[in-house]
Amino acid sequence: MTETSTPAAGPISTPVVGHWIGGKHAPSASGRSGPVTDPATGRVTRQVAFADTAEVDTAVAAAKEAFPAWGGSSLAQRTSVLFAYRALLHQHRAEIAALITAEHGKVHSDALGEVARGLEVVELACGIAQQLKGELSTQVSSGVDVAAIRQPLGVVAGITPFNFPAMVPLWMFPLAIACGNTFVLKPSEKDPSSSLLLAELLAEAGLPQGVFNVVQGDRVAVERLLEHPDIAAVSFVGSTPVARHLHATATAHGKRVQALGGAKNHMMVLPDADLDAAADAAVSAAYGSAGERCMAVSAVVAVGTSGDALVEKIKERAAKVRIGPGTDPASEMGPLITAAHRDKVASYVRGAEAQGCEVALDGTGFTVEGHEDGHWLGLSLLDRVPVTADAYRDEIFGPVLCVLRAETYEEGLALINSSPYGNGTAIFTRDGAAARRFQLEVQAGMVGVNVPIPVPVGYHSFGGWKDSLFGDHHIYGNDGPHFYTRGKVVTSRWGDPSEGARGVDLGFPQHD
Ligand code: NAD
Repeated sequence: MTETSTPAAGPISTPVVGHWIGGKHAPSASGRSGPVTDPATGRVTRQVAFADTAEVDTAVAAAKEAFPAWGGSSLAQRTSVLFAYRALLHQHRAEIAALITAEHGKVHSDALGEVARGLEVVELACGIAQQLKGELSTQVSSGVDVAAIRQPLGVVAGITPFNFPAMVPLWMFPLAIACGNTFVLKPSEKDPSSSLLLAELLAEAGLPQGVFNVVQGDRVAVERLLEHPDIAAVSFVGSTPVARHLHATATAHGKRVQALGGAKNHMMVLPDADLDAAADAAVSAAYGSAGERCMAVSAVVAVGTSGDALVEKIKERAAKVRIGPGTDPASEMGPLITAAHRDKVASYVRGAEAQGCEVALDGTGFTVEGHEDGHWLGLSLLDRVPVTADAYRDEIFGPVLCVLRAETYEEGLALINSSPYGNGTAIFTRDGAAARRFQLEVQAGMVGVNVPIPVPVGYHSFGGWKDSLFGDHHIYGNDGPHFYTRGKVVTSRWGDPSEGARGVDLGFPQHD
Protein backbone atom coordinates (compact mmCIF):
# COMPACT_ATOMS: atom_id res chain seq x y z
CA MET A 1 0.00 0.00 0.00
CA THR A 2 1.35 3.45 -0.97
CA GLU A 3 1.73 5.71 2.01
CA THR A 4 0.61 9.32 2.17
CA SER A 5 1.66 11.87 -0.42
CA THR A 6 -0.68 14.47 1.02
CA PRO A 7 0.54 17.26 3.31
CA ALA A 8 1.01 16.52 6.98
CA ALA A 9 -1.80 17.66 9.26
CA GLY A 10 -1.84 21.43 9.88
CA PRO A 11 -0.26 23.77 12.37
CA ILE A 12 -1.94 22.51 15.51
CA SER A 13 0.82 20.89 17.51
CA THR A 14 -0.64 20.98 21.02
CA PRO A 15 -1.82 17.64 22.35
CA VAL A 16 -5.05 19.26 23.59
CA VAL A 17 -7.25 20.93 20.99
CA GLY A 18 -8.50 24.04 22.75
CA HIS A 19 -10.87 26.91 22.11
CA TRP A 20 -10.58 30.11 20.05
CA ILE A 21 -11.92 33.08 21.95
CA GLY A 22 -11.52 36.81 21.29
CA GLY A 23 -9.25 36.27 18.29
CA LYS A 24 -6.75 33.89 19.86
CA HIS A 25 -6.20 30.35 21.06
CA ALA A 26 -7.65 29.77 24.51
CA PRO A 27 -6.43 26.69 26.40
CA SER A 28 -9.02 24.77 28.33
CA ALA A 29 -9.52 25.51 31.99
CA SER A 30 -12.40 23.11 32.64
CA GLY A 31 -10.32 20.02 33.33
CA ARG A 32 -12.67 18.05 31.06
CA SER A 33 -11.58 16.58 27.74
CA GLY A 34 -12.14 13.68 25.36
CA PRO A 35 -9.97 11.66 22.96
CA VAL A 36 -9.56 12.40 19.25
CA THR A 37 -8.75 9.27 17.26
CA ASP A 38 -7.21 8.63 13.86
CA PRO A 39 -9.85 6.27 12.43
CA ALA A 40 -7.33 4.64 10.09
CA THR A 41 -5.09 3.47 12.93
CA GLY A 42 -7.42 3.48 15.92
CA ARG A 43 -4.79 5.52 17.79
CA VAL A 44 -5.67 8.48 20.01
CA THR A 45 -3.76 11.37 18.47
CA ARG A 46 -5.00 14.31 20.51
CA GLN A 47 -7.30 15.27 23.32
CA VAL A 48 -10.03 17.83 22.80
CA ALA A 49 -11.08 20.26 25.52
CA PHE A 50 -14.66 20.06 26.73
CA ALA A 51 -15.82 23.55 27.66
CA ASP A 52 -17.69 24.12 30.87
CA THR A 53 -20.43 26.71 31.29
CA ALA A 54 -17.98 29.44 32.31
CA GLU A 55 -15.89 28.93 29.15
CA VAL A 56 -18.99 29.12 26.96
CA ASP A 57 -19.96 32.31 28.77
CA THR A 58 -16.49 33.78 28.07
CA ALA A 59 -16.82 33.03 24.34
CA VAL A 60 -20.33 34.50 24.19
CA ALA A 61 -19.13 37.60 26.07
CA ALA A 62 -16.30 38.07 23.54
CA ALA A 63 -18.82 37.79 20.69
CA LYS A 64 -21.21 40.19 22.41
CA GLU A 65 -18.47 42.76 22.93
CA ALA A 66 -17.44 42.55 19.28
CA PHE A 67 -20.99 42.90 17.93
CA PRO A 68 -21.63 46.68 18.06
CA ALA A 69 -18.53 47.55 16.01
CA TRP A 70 -18.84 44.62 13.59
CA GLY A 71 -22.61 44.97 13.16
CA GLY A 72 -22.11 48.66 12.48
CA SER A 73 -19.21 48.21 10.05
CA SER A 74 -19.80 48.85 6.36
CA LEU A 75 -20.62 46.17 3.84
CA ALA A 76 -17.33 47.00 2.12
CA GLN A 77 -15.35 46.40 5.33
CA ARG A 78 -17.06 43.08 5.98
CA THR A 79 -16.77 41.76 2.45
CA SER A 80 -13.12 42.75 2.13
CA VAL A 81 -12.40 40.31 4.98
CA LEU A 82 -14.42 37.61 3.22
CA PHE A 83 -12.60 38.11 -0.09
CA ALA A 84 -9.27 37.75 1.74
CA TYR A 85 -10.62 34.68 3.55
CA ARG A 86 -11.63 33.06 0.27
CA ALA A 87 -8.06 33.45 -1.03
CA LEU A 88 -6.59 32.01 2.18
CA LEU A 89 -8.93 29.00 2.14
CA HIS A 90 -7.85 28.29 -1.43
CA GLN A 91 -4.22 28.57 -0.43
CA HIS A 92 -4.63 26.28 2.62
CA ARG A 93 -7.19 23.83 1.25
CA ALA A 94 -4.81 20.85 1.20
CA GLU A 95 -3.84 21.54 4.81
CA ILE A 96 -7.49 21.73 5.89
CA ALA A 97 -8.24 18.53 3.96
CA ALA A 98 -5.30 16.77 5.65
CA LEU A 99 -6.67 17.69 9.08
CA ILE A 100 -10.09 16.36 8.08
CA THR A 101 -8.60 13.07 6.90
CA ALA A 102 -6.50 12.73 10.05
CA GLU A 103 -9.52 12.97 12.37
CA HIS A 104 -12.52 11.95 10.24
CA GLY A 105 -10.84 9.34 8.05
CA LYS A 106 -12.38 10.27 4.68
CA VAL A 107 -10.04 10.06 1.70
CA HIS A 108 -8.03 13.17 0.85
CA SER A 109 -9.82 13.86 -2.47
CA ASP A 110 -13.18 13.70 -0.69
CA ALA A 111 -11.88 16.07 2.01
CA LEU A 112 -10.76 18.49 -0.71
CA GLY A 113 -14.27 18.28 -2.18
CA GLU A 114 -15.70 19.17 1.23
CA VAL A 115 -13.52 22.29 1.39
CA ALA A 116 -14.55 23.26 -2.15
CA ARG A 117 -18.26 22.98 -1.28
CA GLY A 118 -17.69 25.12 1.82
CA LEU A 119 -15.88 27.70 -0.28
CA GLU A 120 -19.03 28.14 -2.38
CA VAL A 121 -20.73 29.67 0.64
CA VAL A 122 -17.77 31.97 1.33
CA GLU A 123 -18.11 33.16 -2.27
CA LEU A 124 -21.83 33.76 -1.74
CA ALA A 125 -20.98 35.74 1.40
CA CYS A 126 -18.52 37.90 -0.60
CA GLY A 127 -21.58 39.13 -2.54
CA ILE A 128 -23.74 39.70 0.55
CA ALA A 129 -24.41 43.32 -0.45
CA GLN A 130 -26.64 42.01 -3.23
CA GLN A 131 -28.74 39.97 -0.79
CA LEU A 132 -29.08 42.73 1.82
CA LYS A 133 -30.27 45.44 -0.56
CA GLY A 134 -33.69 45.86 1.04
CA GLU A 135 -36.76 47.42 -0.55
CA LEU A 136 -38.01 50.97 -0.95
CA SER A 137 -41.45 52.30 -1.88
CA THR A 138 -41.58 56.03 -2.51
CA GLN A 139 -44.63 58.27 -2.09
CA VAL A 140 -46.86 55.59 -0.55
CA SER A 141 -48.81 58.56 0.77
CA SER A 142 -48.18 62.27 0.25
CA GLY A 143 -44.57 62.88 1.30
CA VAL A 144 -44.26 59.39 2.79
CA ASP A 145 -41.74 56.69 1.84
CA VAL A 146 -41.43 53.13 3.20
CA ALA A 147 -38.11 51.27 3.39
CA ALA A 148 -37.70 47.61 4.38
CA ILE A 149 -34.25 46.84 5.72
CA ARG A 150 -32.66 43.78 7.28
CA GLN A 151 -30.37 43.97 10.30
CA PRO A 152 -28.12 41.46 12.06
CA LEU A 153 -29.42 39.52 15.06
CA GLY A 154 -26.41 39.84 17.38
CA VAL A 155 -24.53 36.78 18.63
CA VAL A 156 -25.43 33.55 16.86
CA ALA A 157 -24.23 30.00 17.53
CA GLY A 158 -23.45 27.09 15.23
CA ILE A 159 -23.35 23.46 16.39
CA THR A 160 -21.95 21.03 13.85
CA PRO A 161 -21.61 17.27 13.19
CA PHE A 162 -18.54 15.08 12.71
CA ASN A 163 -19.13 14.14 9.10
CA PHE A 164 -18.24 17.51 7.52
CA PRO A 165 -15.98 19.23 10.06
CA ALA A 166 -15.09 22.09 7.68
CA MET A 167 -17.97 22.31 5.20
CA VAL A 168 -20.87 22.48 7.63
CA PRO A 169 -19.32 25.30 9.73
CA LEU A 170 -18.66 27.04 6.39
CA TRP A 171 -22.37 26.68 5.55
CA MET A 172 -23.03 28.88 8.58
CA PHE A 173 -20.50 31.44 9.75
CA PRO A 174 -19.48 33.18 6.49
CA LEU A 175 -23.07 34.29 5.89
CA ALA A 176 -23.72 35.00 9.56
CA ILE A 177 -20.73 37.32 9.87
CA ALA A 178 -21.26 38.84 6.41
CA CYS A 179 -24.70 39.90 7.68
CA GLY A 180 -23.02 41.65 10.64
CA ASN A 181 -23.49 39.05 13.38
CA THR A 182 -20.80 37.65 15.62
CA PHE A 183 -20.47 33.89 15.96
CA VAL A 184 -19.75 31.08 18.41
CA LEU A 185 -19.04 27.67 16.85
CA LYS A 186 -19.27 24.38 18.75
CA PRO A 187 -17.69 21.78 16.44
CA SER A 188 -18.01 18.03 16.76
CA GLU A 189 -15.75 16.69 19.48
CA LYS A 190 -14.78 13.79 17.18
CA ASP A 191 -12.84 15.93 14.67
CA PRO A 192 -12.30 19.38 16.19
CA SER A 193 -8.97 20.57 14.73
CA SER A 194 -10.04 22.00 11.37
CA SER A 195 -12.27 24.51 13.18
CA LEU A 196 -9.17 26.12 14.69
CA LEU A 197 -7.44 26.36 11.33
CA LEU A 198 -10.60 28.00 9.92
CA ALA A 199 -10.41 30.46 12.85
CA GLU A 200 -6.70 31.23 12.35
CA LEU A 201 -7.32 31.97 8.67
CA LEU A 202 -10.20 34.31 9.56
CA ALA A 203 -7.85 36.25 11.84
CA GLU A 204 -5.24 36.37 9.06
CA ALA A 205 -7.92 37.70 6.70
CA GLY A 206 -8.40 40.63 9.07
CA LEU A 207 -11.52 39.65 11.00
CA PRO A 208 -11.67 41.73 14.21
CA GLN A 209 -11.19 39.88 17.49
CA GLY A 210 -14.29 38.31 18.99
CA VAL A 211 -16.34 38.21 15.78
CA PHE A 212 -15.68 34.47 15.42
CA ASN A 213 -15.14 32.17 18.39
CA VAL A 214 -14.86 28.41 18.84
CA VAL A 215 -15.76 26.48 21.96
CA GLN A 216 -14.90 22.81 21.86
CA GLY A 217 -16.96 20.38 23.84
CA ASP A 218 -19.82 18.02 24.33
CA ARG A 219 -23.46 18.44 25.33
CA VAL A 220 -22.51 20.60 28.35
CA ALA A 221 -21.36 23.35 25.97
CA VAL A 222 -24.37 22.82 23.71
CA GLU A 223 -26.89 23.08 26.54
CA ARG A 224 -25.33 26.35 27.74
CA LEU A 225 -25.50 27.83 24.24
CA LEU A 226 -29.18 26.83 23.95
CA GLU A 227 -30.17 28.67 27.10
CA HIS A 228 -27.70 31.57 27.02
CA PRO A 229 -29.61 34.88 27.13
CA ASP A 230 -27.12 36.61 24.81
CA ILE A 231 -27.46 34.10 21.96
CA ALA A 232 -30.06 35.29 19.44
CA ALA A 233 -30.12 32.32 17.06
CA VAL A 234 -28.81 28.78 16.69
CA SER A 235 -27.91 26.88 13.53
CA PHE A 236 -27.58 23.13 14.07
CA VAL A 237 -26.66 20.24 11.80
CA GLY A 238 -26.60 16.70 13.21
CA SER A 239 -28.78 13.72 13.98
CA THR A 240 -32.57 13.88 14.20
CA PRO A 241 -32.98 13.19 17.94
CA VAL A 242 -30.50 15.95 18.83
CA ALA A 243 -31.99 18.32 16.21
CA ARG A 244 -35.46 17.80 17.66
CA HIS A 245 -34.26 18.36 21.25
CA LEU A 246 -32.19 21.37 20.29
CA HIS A 247 -35.04 23.01 18.38
CA ALA A 248 -37.45 22.53 21.27
CA THR A 249 -34.98 23.78 23.88
CA ALA A 250 -33.60 26.79 22.02
CA THR A 251 -37.02 28.01 20.82
CA ALA A 252 -38.28 27.67 24.42
CA HIS A 253 -35.48 30.09 25.31
CA GLY A 254 -36.72 32.54 22.70
CA LYS A 255 -34.14 31.87 20.01
CA ARG A 256 -34.48 31.61 16.26
CA VAL A 257 -33.47 28.05 15.29
CA GLN A 258 -32.67 26.07 12.16
CA ALA A 259 -31.92 22.44 13.04
CA LEU A 260 -31.03 20.08 10.20
CA GLY A 261 -31.34 16.42 11.13
CA GLY A 262 -30.68 12.94 9.81
CA ALA A 263 -31.86 11.21 6.67
CA LYS A 264 -32.74 8.07 4.76
CA ASN A 265 -32.29 9.09 1.15
CA HIS A 266 -34.08 7.04 -1.51
CA MET A 267 -33.06 6.66 -5.12
CA MET A 268 -35.86 5.41 -7.37
CA VAL A 269 -34.77 3.57 -10.51
CA LEU A 270 -37.39 3.11 -13.24
CA PRO A 271 -37.09 0.22 -15.71
CA ASP A 272 -36.27 2.60 -18.58
CA ALA A 273 -33.25 4.11 -16.78
CA ASP A 274 -29.68 3.69 -18.00
CA LEU A 275 -28.90 0.93 -15.49
CA ASP A 276 -25.13 1.31 -15.83
CA ALA A 277 -25.35 5.02 -14.99
CA ALA A 278 -27.78 4.24 -12.15
CA ALA A 279 -25.47 1.57 -10.71
CA ASP A 280 -22.45 3.91 -10.90
CA ALA A 281 -24.47 6.61 -9.14
CA ALA A 282 -25.81 4.25 -6.47
CA VAL A 283 -22.34 2.94 -5.58
CA SER A 284 -20.78 6.43 -5.51
CA ALA A 285 -23.58 7.93 -3.43
CA ALA A 286 -24.04 4.99 -1.06
CA TYR A 287 -20.44 4.22 -0.19
CA GLY A 288 -18.62 7.57 -0.68
CA SER A 289 -17.23 8.79 2.66
CA ALA A 290 -18.10 5.30 4.00
CA GLY A 291 -21.80 6.22 3.85
CA GLU A 292 -21.29 8.90 6.52
CA ARG A 293 -23.04 11.62 4.53
CA CYS A 294 -26.46 13.07 5.30
CA MET A 295 -27.12 12.98 1.54
CA ALA A 296 -25.84 9.41 1.06
CA VAL A 297 -28.18 7.20 -0.91
CA SER A 298 -29.01 4.49 1.61
CA ALA A 299 -32.09 3.00 -0.09
CA VAL A 300 -32.51 2.16 -3.77
CA VAL A 301 -36.10 1.59 -4.84
CA ALA A 302 -35.93 -0.63 -7.91
CA VAL A 303 -39.16 -0.41 -9.88
CA GLY A 304 -40.56 -3.23 -12.05
CA THR A 305 -38.05 -5.24 -14.02
CA SER A 306 -35.03 -3.08 -13.15
CA GLY A 307 -34.23 -4.87 -9.86
CA ASP A 308 -32.22 -8.01 -10.64
CA ALA A 309 -29.98 -6.43 -13.29
CA LEU A 310 -29.41 -3.35 -11.12
CA VAL A 311 -28.42 -5.39 -8.07
CA GLU A 312 -25.92 -7.37 -10.17
CA LYS A 313 -24.39 -4.16 -11.55
CA ILE A 314 -24.15 -2.57 -8.08
CA LYS A 315 -22.55 -5.73 -6.72
CA GLU A 316 -19.92 -5.83 -9.49
CA ARG A 317 -18.95 -2.20 -8.88
CA ALA A 318 -19.02 -2.38 -5.07
CA ALA A 319 -16.67 -5.36 -5.08
CA LYS A 320 -14.03 -3.22 -6.81
CA VAL A 321 -14.06 -0.25 -4.39
CA ARG A 322 -10.63 0.15 -2.79
CA ILE A 323 -10.75 0.61 0.97
CA GLY A 324 -7.79 2.00 2.89
CA PRO A 325 -6.38 4.95 4.81
CA GLY A 326 -7.59 8.32 3.57
CA THR A 327 -3.97 9.45 3.21
CA ASP A 328 -3.33 6.78 0.56
CA PRO A 329 -4.16 8.24 -2.88
CA ALA A 330 -5.25 4.76 -4.02
CA SER A 331 -8.02 4.56 -1.40
CA GLU A 332 -11.55 5.32 -2.53
CA MET A 333 -13.23 4.71 0.84
CA GLY A 334 -11.77 5.25 4.30
CA PRO A 335 -12.61 3.90 7.76
CA LEU A 336 -15.63 4.75 9.92
CA ILE A 337 -15.44 7.47 12.54
CA THR A 338 -15.19 5.28 15.68
CA ALA A 339 -14.89 1.60 16.52
CA ALA A 340 -18.23 1.77 18.34
CA HIS A 341 -19.96 3.23 15.28
CA ARG A 342 -18.33 0.59 13.05
CA ASP A 343 -19.64 -2.16 15.33
CA LYS A 344 -23.14 -0.66 15.36
CA VAL A 345 -23.22 -0.46 11.55
CA ALA A 346 -21.99 -4.06 11.33
CA SER A 347 -24.78 -5.19 13.66
CA TYR A 348 -27.39 -4.05 11.11
CA VAL A 349 -25.78 -6.25 8.46
CA ARG A 350 -25.47 -9.23 10.82
CA GLY A 351 -29.13 -8.96 11.82
CA ALA A 352 -30.43 -8.36 8.28
CA GLU A 353 -31.12 -11.94 7.16
CA ALA A 354 -33.20 -12.70 10.25
CA GLN A 355 -35.31 -9.67 9.40
CA GLY A 356 -36.07 -10.86 5.86
CA CYS A 357 -33.28 -9.22 3.81
CA GLU A 358 -31.10 -11.02 1.26
CA VAL A 359 -27.46 -10.24 2.02
CA ALA A 360 -25.92 -9.70 -1.43
CA LEU A 361 -22.62 -8.35 -0.04
CA ASP A 362 -21.42 -8.65 3.55
CA GLY A 363 -18.73 -6.12 4.49
CA THR A 364 -18.43 -7.13 8.13
CA GLY A 365 -15.13 -8.52 9.38
CA PHE A 366 -13.15 -6.55 6.79
CA THR A 367 -9.71 -5.23 7.71
CA VAL A 368 -6.77 -3.46 6.04
CA GLU A 369 -3.38 -5.13 6.29
CA GLY A 370 -0.96 -3.12 8.41
CA HIS A 371 -3.81 -1.05 9.86
CA GLU A 372 -5.66 -3.77 11.75
CA ASP A 373 -6.78 -1.40 14.53
CA GLY A 374 -8.48 1.00 12.11
CA HIS A 375 -12.27 1.26 12.11
CA TRP A 376 -12.76 -0.72 8.92
CA LEU A 377 -15.88 -2.05 7.36
CA GLY A 378 -16.35 -3.40 3.86
CA LEU A 379 -19.26 -2.57 1.57
CA SER A 380 -22.58 -4.26 2.32
CA LEU A 381 -25.54 -4.64 -0.01
CA LEU A 382 -28.90 -5.85 1.24
CA ASP A 383 -31.52 -6.86 -1.34
CA ARG A 384 -35.32 -7.29 -1.12
CA VAL A 385 -35.28 -5.36 2.14
CA PRO A 386 -38.69 -5.22 3.83
CA VAL A 387 -39.74 -1.80 5.16
CA THR A 388 -39.94 -3.37 8.62
CA ALA A 389 -36.21 -4.25 8.73
CA ASP A 390 -34.06 -2.18 11.11
CA ALA A 391 -31.53 -1.71 8.30
CA TYR A 392 -34.20 0.23 6.41
CA ARG A 393 -35.95 1.97 9.29
CA ASP A 394 -32.83 3.47 10.91
CA GLU A 395 -30.34 5.93 9.51
CA ILE A 396 -27.38 3.52 9.62
CA PHE A 397 -24.77 6.12 8.53
CA GLY A 398 -22.35 3.56 7.17
CA PRO A 399 -21.47 1.68 3.96
CA VAL A 400 -24.69 -0.32 3.79
CA LEU A 401 -27.05 0.00 0.82
CA CYS A 402 -30.60 -1.38 1.01
CA VAL A 403 -32.44 -2.29 -2.18
CA LEU A 404 -36.23 -2.36 -1.98
CA ARG A 405 -38.45 -3.62 -4.76
CA ALA A 406 -41.63 -1.94 -6.04
CA GLU A 407 -43.95 -3.12 -8.81
CA THR A 408 -44.88 0.36 -10.02
CA TYR A 409 -43.86 4.04 -9.82
CA GLU A 410 -46.87 4.67 -7.55
CA GLU A 411 -45.83 1.92 -5.13
CA GLY A 412 -42.24 3.24 -5.06
CA LEU A 413 -43.40 6.80 -4.49
CA ALA A 414 -45.72 5.77 -1.64
CA LEU A 415 -42.82 3.89 -0.04
CA ILE A 416 -40.53 6.93 -0.22
CA ASN A 417 -43.21 9.30 1.02
CA SER A 418 -43.98 7.10 4.03
CA SER A 419 -40.43 7.59 5.36
CA PRO A 420 -40.26 9.90 8.37
CA TYR A 421 -37.22 11.54 6.74
CA GLY A 422 -37.32 13.89 3.75
CA ASN A 423 -33.80 15.15 3.14
CA GLY A 424 -32.67 14.23 -0.39
CA THR A 425 -34.04 11.85 -2.98
CA ALA A 426 -33.41 11.00 -6.63
CA ILE A 427 -35.05 9.40 -9.64
CA PHE A 428 -33.21 7.68 -12.46
CA THR A 429 -35.18 7.46 -15.70
CA ARG A 430 -35.19 8.45 -19.39
CA ASP A 431 -38.85 9.46 -19.11
CA GLY A 432 -39.10 13.23 -18.66
CA ALA A 433 -42.78 13.12 -17.73
CA ALA A 434 -42.13 10.58 -14.96
CA ALA A 435 -39.23 12.68 -13.67
CA ARG A 436 -41.41 15.79 -13.67
CA ARG A 437 -44.16 13.96 -11.81
CA PHE A 438 -41.63 12.76 -9.24
CA GLN A 439 -40.33 16.30 -8.64
CA LEU A 440 -43.83 17.46 -7.80
CA GLU A 441 -45.05 14.43 -5.86
CA VAL A 442 -42.08 13.37 -3.74
CA GLN A 443 -41.90 14.64 -0.16
CA ALA A 444 -38.30 15.73 0.26
CA GLY A 445 -36.43 19.02 0.34
CA MET A 446 -33.85 18.21 -2.36
CA VAL A 447 -34.55 16.17 -5.48
CA GLY A 448 -32.11 14.80 -8.05
CA VAL A 449 -33.09 13.78 -11.57
CA ASN A 450 -30.40 11.39 -12.78
CA VAL A 451 -28.26 13.04 -10.04
CA PRO A 452 -27.79 10.90 -6.92
CA ILE A 453 -26.63 13.47 -4.32
CA PRO A 454 -28.53 16.65 -5.13
CA VAL A 455 -26.66 18.98 -2.74
CA PRO A 456 -27.64 22.45 -3.98
CA VAL A 457 -24.92 24.88 -5.08
CA GLY A 458 -24.14 27.69 -2.64
CA TYR A 459 -26.63 30.17 -4.08
CA HIS A 460 -29.57 27.76 -3.64
CA SER A 461 -30.57 26.70 -0.14
CA PHE A 462 -29.97 23.26 1.42
CA GLY A 463 -32.53 21.59 3.65
CA GLY A 464 -34.89 18.69 4.08
CA TRP A 465 -38.51 18.13 5.02
CA LYS A 466 -40.18 16.20 7.85
CA ASP A 467 -37.75 14.80 10.47
CA SER A 468 -34.78 16.03 8.44
CA LEU A 469 -35.27 19.67 9.43
CA PHE A 470 -36.78 21.49 12.39
CA GLY A 471 -37.42 25.20 11.90
CA ASP A 472 -38.50 27.40 9.00
CA HIS A 473 -35.26 28.12 7.21
CA HIS A 474 -33.06 25.97 5.05
CA ILE A 475 -29.34 26.71 5.21
CA TYR A 476 -27.20 28.99 2.95
CA GLY A 477 -28.53 30.28 -0.43
CA ASN A 478 -31.24 32.92 0.03
CA ASP A 479 -32.45 31.35 3.29
CA GLY A 480 -29.06 31.91 4.98
CA PRO A 481 -29.07 35.73 5.02
CA HIS A 482 -32.77 35.68 5.82
CA PHE A 483 -32.13 33.47 8.85
CA TYR A 484 -29.23 35.62 10.06
CA THR A 485 -31.09 38.97 9.81
CA ARG A 486 -34.38 40.40 10.97
CA GLY A 487 -36.61 42.77 9.07
CA LYS A 488 -37.42 46.34 9.91
CA VAL A 489 -39.81 48.60 8.03
CA VAL A 490 -39.21 52.35 8.22
CA THR A 491 -42.03 54.76 7.29
CA SER A 492 -40.77 58.34 6.78
CA ARG A 493 -42.47 61.64 6.08
CA TRP A 494 -40.30 64.36 4.59
CA GLY A 495 -42.97 66.56 3.02
CA ASP A 496 -42.56 70.10 1.79
CA PRO A 497 -42.14 72.37 4.90
CA SER A 498 -44.38 74.95 3.23
CA GLU A 499 -47.32 72.57 3.72
CA GLY A 500 -47.11 73.42 7.44
CA ALA A 501 -48.43 71.46 10.41
CA ARG A 502 -51.06 68.79 9.70
CA GLY A 503 -52.96 69.26 12.97
CA VAL A 504 -54.01 66.68 15.56
CA ASP A 505 -55.95 63.69 14.18
CA LEU A 506 -56.81 60.83 16.55
CA GLY A 507 -58.08 58.60 13.73
CA PHE A 508 -56.13 55.50 12.63
CA PRO A 509 -53.56 56.62 10.01
CA GLN A 510 -54.76 56.23 6.41
CA HIS A 511 -53.06 57.04 3.15
CA ASP A 512 -53.90 60.07 1.10
P1 NAD B 1 -24.85 14.32 16.48
O1 NAD B 1 -26.28 14.74 16.50
O2 NAD B 1 -24.45 13.19 17.35
O3 NAD B 1 -23.91 15.55 16.90
C1 NAD B 1 -24.04 16.83 16.29
C2 NAD B 1 -23.57 17.89 17.29
O4 NAD B 1 -24.43 17.87 18.43
C3 NAD B 1 -22.16 17.68 17.79
O5 NAD B 1 -21.52 18.94 17.88
C4 NAD B 1 -22.35 17.04 19.16
O6 NAD B 1 -21.32 17.39 20.08
C5 NAD B 1 -23.67 17.62 19.61
N1 NAD B 1 -24.46 16.67 20.43
C6 NAD B 1 -24.48 15.31 20.31
N2 NAD B 1 -25.34 14.78 21.20
C7 NAD B 1 -25.89 15.82 21.88
C8 NAD B 1 -26.85 15.90 22.92
N3 NAD B 1 -27.43 14.83 23.43
N4 NAD B 1 -27.18 17.13 23.37
C9 NAD B 1 -26.61 18.24 22.86
N5 NAD B 1 -25.68 18.21 21.87
C10 NAD B 1 -25.32 17.02 21.38
O7 NAD B 1 -24.47 14.04 14.95
P2 NAD B 1 -23.12 13.43 14.39
O8 NAD B 1 -23.06 11.98 14.74
O9 NAD B 1 -21.98 14.29 14.75
O10 NAD B 1 -23.37 13.60 12.82
C11 NAD B 1 -24.08 12.68 12.04
C12 NAD B 1 -25.53 13.05 11.92
O11 NAD B 1 -25.65 14.36 11.35
C13 NAD B 1 -26.30 12.15 10.97
O12 NAD B 1 -27.56 11.89 11.52
C14 NAD B 1 -26.41 12.97 9.70
O13 NAD B 1 -27.51 12.64 8.86
C15 NAD B 1 -26.57 14.33 10.26
N6 NAD B 1 -26.22 15.35 9.28
C16 NAD B 1 -27.23 16.04 8.72
C17 NAD B 1 -26.95 16.98 7.75
C18 NAD B 1 -28.06 17.76 7.10
O14 NAD B 1 -27.74 18.71 6.41
N7 NAD B 1 -29.31 17.44 7.29
C19 NAD B 1 -25.63 17.22 7.37
C20 NAD B 1 -24.61 16.50 7.99
C21 NAD B 1 -24.92 15.56 8.96
